[in-house]
Amino acid sequence: MKVLIIGSGGREHALGWKLSQSPTLPRLYFAPGNPGTAELGTNLKLSNHAEITAFAAEEGIHLVIVGPEQPLVDGLADKLNSIGVPCFGPDQAAARLEGSKTFAKEVMEATGVPTATYRAFEDLEEALAYAESQPHPLVVKADGLAGGKGVTICQDLAQTQAALQEAMADKRFGKAGDSVVIEEFLTGTEVSFHLISDGERFLPLISAQDHKTLYEDGKGPNTGGMGTYAPSPLVTPELADTIQNDVCIPVLNYLRDQGHPFRGVLFAGLMLTWNGPKVLEFNVRFGDPETQVIMPLLDFDLLPVLHEAARGKLDTSRPHGWRDDSAACVVLAAEGYPVSPRKGDTISGLAPAMDTKIFHAGTKRCQDGTLETAGGRVMGVTAWGEDLETARTKAYRQVEEVKFDGKHYRRDIGGSAR
Ligand code: AMP
Repeated sequence: MKVLIIGSGGREHALGWKLSQSPTLPRLYFAPGNPGTAELGTNLKLSNHAEITAFAAEEGIHLVIVGPEQPLVDGLADKLNSIGVPCFGPDQAAARLEGSKTFAKEVMEATGVPTATYRAFEDLEEALAYAESQPHPLVVKADGLAGGKGVTICQDLAQTQAALQEAMADKRFGKAGDSVVIEEFLTGTEVSFHLISDGERFLPLISAQDHKTLYEDGKGPNTGGMGTYAPSPLVTPELADTIQNDVCIPVLNYLRDQGHPFRGVLFAGLMLTWNGPKVLEFNVRFGDPETQVIMPLLDFDLLPVLHEAARGKLDTSRPHGWRDDSAACVVLAAEGYPVSPRKGDTISGLAPAMDTKIFHAGTKRCQDGTLETAGGRVMGVTAWGEDLETARTKAYRQVEEVKFDGKHYRRDIGGSAR
C-alpha cells in the first residue's frame, strides 16, 4: 500500500514510524516530511493542494493522512475525495470544528456537550461591553486558526480589553481574530482524548496529558506543547466512557446528520472540573506531541484502521489493544522558542537507547550530512516502560545525550521537576 503523510513535525514522524511497522510493509511518502521521516520513506516537495492531489493520482496513492489542521480547514480532504483518493482527515465543513471556535461552540450548544459558557462577537464595542459585565478571569479566543497563540487568559478587565483590542482592532492574528469567543475560565486538570472515526463507527485511543506552558509548574507563555505522557491516570475507564458518550459521539452524530461524516481523528482537549469534564477545544487531527506517546503504546496495526476510517468502513470488531506500559515525551526546544527560535545549531547525540525514540520536528539535514536546528520545537524524546516513572527516567536520560546550543526543555514532564 502507498501512503502519503502530509506534514513535517514530530506527529508525522511518529505516525510514519508506527505505520512502517505494519506487516503489510507500506511504501511511505511524506510531504514535506523532515530528516526523521526521510529514514522511513520518501520526502517530497509538494507546495500546494493541486500538487498533492496530482501526485496522489499519478502515483496511485491508496491513503493520504493529513497531519496538521490547516490543510483540512482549507479543504484538502474534499479535493482528494473528489478524485477518489481516501483521505484520513475530515472534509472542510467538518474541519470547522477546529477552524472556527464559534462553530465549535455552536455545535456543542446544539448537542449539549459540556463546555465553558461563552458569547461570540464580531464587533469590538459589543465585546468590550460584555467583558465589563463579567466576573474575571475570562478567556478570549480568536475565532480562527492562530497557530496555538489565539487564546488569552485574562485575569482582569484591563487584560481582557487589551486582548480584544489586539485580536479585533490590531489584527494580531489576521482574519482569525475578526471574531472572538469570550468564555468562562475553567479550573481543573487538562487531558487529551483522541478518537478515530469513520463518520459512523469509532475507536477511542489511549488518553494523554500535555504540558503547554514553556516553564515548569504551568509558568511562562503557552507553547505548541513542551511534553506529554500517556496514559493519563486521571482518565479512568469510566471517565473515558463518559467523554466518549457525552462529548465525542454527539458531535460525530451531529456532523453525520449535517451530511459531513467525520473521517479522521477527533481530538478533544478537556478540562476535568469539579462538575465533570468540559471541552476546551476540539481538534480535527492528531495532537502533537500527544501522538508521540500514543504511537509507542498502540498494540495493533494502525494502517488498516486509518485506511478503513478514511473510506467510511471502520471494522471495530478487530482487537485493538494497548501495551500495558506508560510513555513520556520531552520536547527539546531551540534557543528563543516560542518567540523567535534560533536556527542553525548543530545537533549530536541521537543514538537512542532501548525503548526510546527520537521524533524529529524542527531539524534539517545539511549537504555534508550534519543535522541542525531548523524550528522551535526541535525534537521529541519519547521513551516507554512498565510505569510512568520508568518511562520518564529513560526519556530524561536520553535528553541529556542530545546536544545542541540553546537546547531547553521542561524538567517536570510526567511528574515533579527534576
Ligand atoms: P484552546 O486552544 O482553546 O485549547 O486553548 C489553549 C489553552 O488555553 C488550553 O489548553 C488551556 O490551557 C487554556 N484554556 C482554553 N480555554 C480555557 C478556559 N475556558 N478556561 C481555562 N483555560 C482555558
